[in-house]
Amino acid sequence: MENIILDKLQRPLRDLRLSVTDRCNFRCRYCMPEEIFGPGYPFLSSDKILSFDEMERLARIFAALGTKKIRITGGEPLLRKDLPELIRRLKEIKEVEDIGITTNGSLLKKFSPALFNAGLRRVTVSLDSLDDQRFNQLNGNKSNVARVLEGIEAASNVGLKVKVNMVVQKGKNDQDIIPMAKYFKEQKHTLRFIEYMDVGNSNGWRMEEVMTKQEILDLIEKIMPLEQIKPNYVGEVATRYRYIGSDQEIGIISSVTDSFCSTCSRARVSAEGKLYTCLFSSKGFDLRHLLRSGESDDAITKKITDIWNHRGDRYSDERANGHSNNRTKVEMSHIGG
Ligand code: SAM
Ligand code: SF4
Ligand code: SF4
Repeated sequence: MENIILDKLQRPLRDLRLSVTDRCNFRCRYCMPEEIFGPGYPFLSSDKILSFDEMERLARIFAALGTKKIRITGGEPLLRKDLPELIRRLKEIKEVEDIGITTNGSLLKKFSPALFNAGLRRVTVSLDSLDDQRFNQLNGNKSNVARVLEGIEAASNVGLKVKVNMVVQKGKNDQDIIPMAKYFKEQKHTLRFIEYMDVGNSNGWRMEEVMTKQEILDLIEKIMPLEQIKPNYVGEVATRYRYIGSDQEIGIISSVTDSFCSTCSRARVSAEGKLYTCLFSSKGFDLRHLLRSGESDDAITKKITDIWNHRGDRYSDERANGHSNNRTKVEMSHIGG
């Protein structure tokens, strides 16, 4: 039986972001800069990473606590061996209404058929520029635009609904906003612009580099007028807009200038099985230890309920009010956004 749990701010636990690996084949400067995540970086060894059995068990426990959506992320989730098998298992959990995956797209062409056959129906692809030189500056010289676009095309061709995420940094890729908007309008894929965030401890974030939601809107509206449209559901992170005279939409995720903590219903579990109640948490709770020490589902359920009941996280709201502190934060590549 479903047992809805609420945190201290009356927010339910509706979404689970499951990171399946802390490794990635890109080195995006805003997430895993090469000088920190270089050859000597202590990535998790395979015995430290949750198995599919453990992930499925946790997913069932979260589903019984009201979780309806699961997003698979990383690192780069398509580096995890046999990922379609995990999707197939998660699809069998009847309370889970929606499963998504966020990927850098570099391996999507290869895996699209298997992902679709496993039951996946939508995918979010991250792409920050259509210009090869800039794209490579952003991703640490690890790929090229054509490869990601081929991945998007392959995904779309097998029947996966594609959304594209673009993190915008002022002075780095703001000149790509219009080309990206035009291209994905034509391709009929929803493009979502993400304000650059102060996640982790290694990206050297500065407010001056944030291209704000309003600045992005102003730029696009000069060329392609937009109208705001209703959210699909309470707690949707992107504000939605439609190009006037078309049914194509875009979204803006404005975590910095227009935060949405009051409706945040997301829990994150890292590849090593730590539970984080906020993208900007300093510490996670070790669920792997519980899973591997013979604890019952009831005991794990009780622990997760207790953690959620005590949750008061609202980092982005606090940042907007000038109250965020200089805490050490979990790295984005551990919990996957
Ligand atoms: N590797 C996959 C990918 O890039 O799609 C999944 C993991 S990645 C950490 C998830 C999302 O977080 C990506 O869309 C990425 O662009 C976004 N991201 C990473 N660092 C960010 C930052 N500093 N600010 C905003 N978004 C960020
Ligand atoms: Fe890898 Fe995604 Fe982070 Fe880029 S944003 S380094 S692709 S995990
Ligand atoms: Fe949720 Fe934390 Fe982001 Fe606020 S800052 S929306 S609580 S993850």
